[in-house]
This record gives sequence, structure tokens and C-alpha cells, in this order.
Amino acid sequence: MKKTIMTIAAACMVGSMSAQSVRPAIPRDGAIEAKVEKLMGKMSLDEKIGQMLELGIDCFGKMEVENAKLDRTKMRNKLLELGRKDEEISKLMRKSDAEIMKELAPFNLDIYQGDTKMMWKINEETLDTILGKYKVGSILNAPATRAQSVADWQKIIGTIQKKSMKLIGIPCIYGLDNNHGVTYVQGGTLFPQPINTAASFNVELARQEGQICAYESRAANCPWVYNPTIDLGRDPRWSRIWESFGEDAIVNSRMVEAKIRGYQGDDPNHLGQYSVATSVKHYFGYGAPFSGKDRTPAIIAPNVLREKYFEPFRRAIEAGAMTIMVNSASVNGVPLHASYEYLTQWLKKDLNWDGMIVTDWADINNLYTREHVAKDKKDAIRIAINAGIDMSMDPYSVDFAVLLKELVNEGKVSMDRIDDAVRRILRLKYRLGLFDQPNTGGKAYSKYGSEEYAAKALAAAEETEVLLKNEDNILPIAKGKKILLAGPNANQMRCLNGGWSYSWQGSRVEDLSENYNTIYEALCNKYGKDNVILEQGVTYNENGSYWQENTPDISKAVNAAQQADVIVACIGENSYCETPGNLTDLTLSQNQRDLVKALAKTGKPIVMVINGGRPRLVADIEPLAKGVIDILLPGNYGGDALANLMAGDANFSAKMPYTYPKEINSLINYDYKVSEEVSTMAGAYDYDAKVTQQWPFGFGLSYTTFGYSNLKVSQNSFGPGDVLTVTVDVTNKGAKAGKEAVLLYSSDLVASITPDSRRLRAFQKVALQPGETKTVTFELPAKALAFVGADGKWVLEEGDFVLSAGGQTAKVNCTETKHWEEPNI
Ligand code: BGC
Repeated sequence: MKKTIMTIAAACMVGSMSAQSVRPAIPRDGAIEAKVEKLMGKMSLDEKIGQMLELGIDCFGKMEVENAKLDRTKMRNKLLELGRKDEEISKLMRKSDAEIMKELAPFNLDIYQGDTKMMWKINEETLDTILGKYKVGSILNAPATRAQSVADWQKIIGTIQKKSMKLIGIPCIYGLDNNHGVTYVQGGTLFPQPINTAASFNVELARQEGQICAYESRAANCPWVYNPTIDLGRDPRWSRIWESFGEDAIVNSRMVEAKIRGYQGDDPNHLGQYSVATSVKHYFGYGAPFSGKDRTPAIIAPNVLREKYFEPFRRAIEAGAMTIMVNSASVNGVPLHASYEYLTQWLKKDLNWDGMIVTDWADINNLYTREHVAKDKKDAIRIAINAGIDMSMDPYSVDFAVLLKELVNEGKVSMDRIDDAVRRILRLKYRLGLFDQPNTGGKAYSKYGSEEYAAKALAAAEETEVLLKNEDNILPIAKGKKILLAGPNANQMRCLNGGWSYSWQGSRVEDLSENYNTIYEALCNKYGKDNVILEQGVTYNENGSYWQENTPDISKAVNAAQQADVIVACIGENSYCETPGNLTDLTLSQNQRDLVKALAKTGKPIVMVINGGRPRLVADIEPLAKGVIDILLPGNYGGDALANLMAGDANFSAKMPYTYPKEINSLINYDYKVSEEVSTMAGAYDYDAKVTQQWPFGFGLSYTTFGYSNLKVSQNSFGPGDVLTVTVDVTNKGAKAGKEAVLLYSSDLVASITPDSRRLRAFQKVALQPGETKTVTFELPAKALAFVGADGKWVLEEGDFVLSAGGQTAKVNCTETKHWEEPNI
């Protein structure tokens, strides 16, 4: 027994020594630390625990309605959207309007008729209790999850700050899901979603989006955003794949580093009035649920977890991410909110990171209600706080404050743990400058929603729409041609923006995006109204769930095609977000496939525009189209960008950020194991296993072509400490200026565990005039070729590697095997 204790003690010493020897992720600022300590010295336990609680805004306010008139259809849809069961809704429907409105009042739902005036009003008394009695340190979310005006945000957050300073003496930190621009502020700039940014392979776009989103968030007095999302989107069925930078660890890593720089600026200790703190999420393994359904368990091999899923989070922390939000679900049976190893050891200790960990929505409760690792709420709080959670996002209840205090008094949560959490929260507030300037906004933000920002969002959208097929140069479509525009995505802003756009689901907010152009409006502007016939054939049921369509009228579209030179079929998905976006079949809807098939029978050439949050299977209709463009979710300027690209006024330069699957039983990522491909047996046997893909990761066309030559590596053989310089010449061989994303891959030919077929190691985007050649240079440290072995440790093994870019290859040899004992290299 004694021996065991000594061994554990020795292991702990090694652990803490190694943590201390790691450079702090964010260098400490002595002055800030002194202020934190001084304040901590004056705080009571209640005050400390209050800082650790984050409540939802709807706790202390409600929609006040004038002329309240219930809209029963709206109500039914809203409740369906929230996941309420049919029987439950029907029961409610049997009640009178007045009874229903009374019953639903606490949830602040938009369930009223159009002429009902709704105003969100703070209940000052409740707010006084929340701040005065419970000392709550953080608030989140938009009233009824709907975008507010800048002026309203000024008022709401301004009131909270005034009261916080008066009643607690500590500013509140307000958080919003401002994801691809200011989701929850009216009139701001909405960029393409992150999956599009990934498709651009242009990290500068990520930085710029972060910077503008930070500026506009601060204009509306919000200092904290729950973004970027860097869960590797490796399962195409998952409803949140579009919130991430796609399936690859390196793309997510480079993008998150750039985006954090944009959001937070260059000095994480002094953010200033135009920067916001980020909350990278959802740590980690969230994007690979086994069932494909949101918030359900993932099973991920431990070495893959470390090597791929952890990588973007590690890079985010090294880039100065100030907070991290935790995965709501479990990995290998371990709910992340309960894991000391993943929260405290991997993030705080191994990376020497002094930032703050916040739960996702009510997720401490989920440890007992869903995950069944705790017996009640108090037990769940004990487990989560001891695991390393610093702040509980518990939107509807102050129980956390009461129960955590009991746990401290009972000795089940130590005072040291509380102090550690509070130190992290106060440090964040000081770093954000909230003590000196609790409110921001006003005249200093004249660029809010400006033309300048709009132009950037448009240019970004152009760089993120992917050309996948261009047979017989069907594109560009010349001016003067007559276009039939069909399909459910042809005339709706909601589809272009996706979720987290003016509302959580991106639904029922067309009034807030009416100043922007749908694909139809943008094509009319480009080609002239007389040249664009809109006959959709299939439309979404805007009053239903995201996947519901109205009864189709395909023959109308087919008839209209007679007058057109070319058909543009805009297909895909309506907007959704999180669990309401779950699906049961990845195949594109029957109606939409029938529409394309019927249109094809007219013999008119078809350009298929795919628009949606994830890759819906189109294998049976793809051969019917001469052109295919996947615009993903390009945001408010996505229609205009598409028109520019289709007309040839702009050039395509995006590439697929994930593998677009072809068959439902062949879901795979680009870095599959070499052994995924089993060739046909010789002799009497005739079976095999083949990898099928509709469009591979990294695939995308342009109106010009690029030639690659002269791939060179600075040395043919290398050791673990070397840095390889890889160069390749890229030439624009066509007649049009263009940009090319140059992707550098490696393949480990023989390894102690079955190697991945290839791995992206680096990428760069270059702009080339016709005929121009540029040499692209990558500095590749040898350790970038290491992998995590079956024992969970990093290793670089001797032997041959092939480096490749644009079809050029070079073989290099690693002369020495190196094993690392450190968790991160
Ligand atoms: C989502 C998070 C989001 C949070 C706060 C959760 O339901 O999973 O991504 O940041 O709500 O709105």
C-alpha cells in the first residue's frame, strides 16, 4: 500500500514538474495577478461561487406583449422545433389562447401574431436578486434567442453592468453565440459559416472575420463569444459539421489560430475595446457521434483522440484562447464534463493554461439526467467542479450556487478548487478590461454594419463556394442567356445563412435579412429580371421542421424550362442547428431528386447548386448535371457571390473542407487507413472493399488550371530535430487570374500501427495571374510527421515518407526513431 502511495506521489511530482516546464500558454501579467489576489482576499464564499455561475437572460426578463394574439401554427412549430412531443402539443392546443399564453410566458417564445408588439423587458427586481443575493458573475444568450438592435443590447447589458458594479463590485461577463459574425445583433455583418472559411483554405479570411465580429460584438456591448467551433467535423450526418472547419486537424488548427488572433488581438492580457474573448468549443470529440446524432456518445481510439481531435484545441490554447466550452456528450463512455484527466490534466496542467473552462448549456445537470454518472444535481456539481469546470452555464436556475456552497462546507469540494476557478474568471475579466470599462459601444464603432465590412463578407463568400464540376464549360453562364431557377434553396436567405443567424435555428427571421439578396435576387441583378425565371418546383414548409417540404409542383418547373437556355437547380437543406438538426437519412430528399430528374428529361443543361449544412447524398442526380457548385453556407452575401462566380466576374478558388460521400455505407474521411481498400481477391473469390467518394476532401475547380512542378525537399534524409524545407512551383496555365490553395500531404509508408493513407501537413493560398509561376515554400518540422502510437505516446519512426502536392511527389527518409514521453510535442 505504502509503495502505491509513493508511486502515485512520485508520478504527481513528475506531472507537476512537466507542467511547470511547459511555457505558459498565456504569459502572466504581474499587475493583473496582483489585482486578482487583492480582490480574492476580500471576497466571501458566496461571492466566489456566484462568479462561477452563468445564467440565461430569460431568467430575469420576459417578452412584454401589447395586443397579444396567439398564433397557434407558430406556437406549434416553435414547440416542435424545441423538441416537444406531438401529444404534449396537442394537449396544450386544447386550451384557450389566454391559458396557453400564460403557460408559455416564462419561456419567452415568439408565438404571437404578426401585429403583436413584443418588447423584451428586464424584471429589475429579479435581476437585483440574481446579482445582489446570488452574486452571479455571467449572463448569456439573446432574449427569446432572437437578434436585438445595438441600442437594445446597450440597454440590456448596460443595466446588468451597472447593477453588477453596484451590488458585487465586479463586472459581469456577457456571452453570445456570435458565430459567423454577430448572430444576435441586428444590422451587423454576417460572413460565410466556418465550414466555408475552411473551404477557402485562406487563414487571413478567418482572422478578418474574427476581427470584424469582435468589433461588432463590442459595438453591442458584448465582450465574449462562444466561438470558434473546432470539433473535427468527421461525420457527415452530424448536424453541426458546418459550424466547424471541417474534417481535418491541421485546417481546424490553422483556422482557429487565425480566428483567435482576429477576435482577441495580439495581446491576450490586454484585449481592448475592439476585441472579445473567445470560447473555443466543444472540447472535445463532439463531432464524431457514433449514431450521427447530436450530443450522443463518440467512440474514438485514444491515440486518434490525442493526435487528431485534441490538436486544434491545443493550438487554440497556444494561440491564447481565453476560455473553452466543453463537449456535452461522452467519449469512450467518459462524459467530458466529468473528466479530471481531460479538463484539468490535459488542458490546465499539461499546457500550463490559466484560462477558464465553461460548461455547455445546463450540462452539469446532464451528468445525472442524461449521462447517469451522478445521482443528483449536487453530486453532478461535485463531479464537474472537481474535474476542472470553472463556470457552470446553468441558464435557468441558481441551485448551483446553493448546492456548491453546501459541497464546500461538507468538504467535498475544496476551497483551493473554488479559488482556482474564481482566479481564472477574475483574470479573464481583468484581461478583457471590464473592470476599467464595463461597457463598450457608441461613436467609436462607426464601422458597424458598414459597406466596408459588407465588401469583405462578399469577397469572403466568393472565396468559399466550391466548383465541383464544369463539363463542356457550362460555366460561366454568359449574360443574355435565359435561366430557369428551380429548387427550394433558390429564393431564401435562411438557406444561405444556416443556423446561428439572427436566431438559434436561423428560422423565421426573414424580416431581419430582407436587405440582402437571395440567389434569385442576385441572379436578377446580374442577368436582368427578364432573363431569370423562378419556378422552384419544390419548396420548404417554413412553418414546419427544417426538413419538411410543401407538396411539390415539379411539372410547373419542367414547363418553365422550355423557355430557358440553362437550368440552375438550387438544392440542399433548410437551416437548422444542434439536436433539432438530427436526421434519419443523409440522402437528399426524394422531392428534390425527383425535381432534378424531371428537369434533366427536358434536355436543357443543368447546373446544380448545392446549399446546406452537410453533404446530402446526390449520387443518382449528379450525372444529370453538367455543372455542380457547392456553396455550403455562404451567408448574407452568398447569393451575390454566386452570381458573380456564375457569370465569370469572379473566379472559384475553394476546395472541399470535408469528404463528400457517395454512398451511405461508405462514410469515410480523407485520412483513412491504407487498409480501408481491400483489392479483389484472386482466383475463385470475388469480393473487395473500396473507398467511394462523391468529391474528395481538397477537391475544387477553377475557371483556370494550375500546373505543379519542381517539388523539392531541402534534404532527402532527416532526423527528428530537423526542419524540412519543401518547395513547389505553381503556375497559372489558363487565361484567367485565379487563386490556388496548395495542399501539402505526407504518407508514412511503413509504421508500427497501420498508417493513414495520407495526411494534410500544411497549406497556403496563392494568387496567380495568367502565365504566372510562384514558388510556394513550406517549413515542415520533422516532428510534424510523428503520430501517436498504440501506447498513447508520440513517436516519429525511421523509414520512408512520401510528400506530395498537386500530383508532385518526393520520397524522404527518416533516419532515426524518436519516442516522446511528453504528452504534447
Ligand atoms: C450549444 C453551444 C452554445 C451554447 C450557448 C449550446 O446548446 O451547444 O454551442 O454556445 O448552447 O448558447
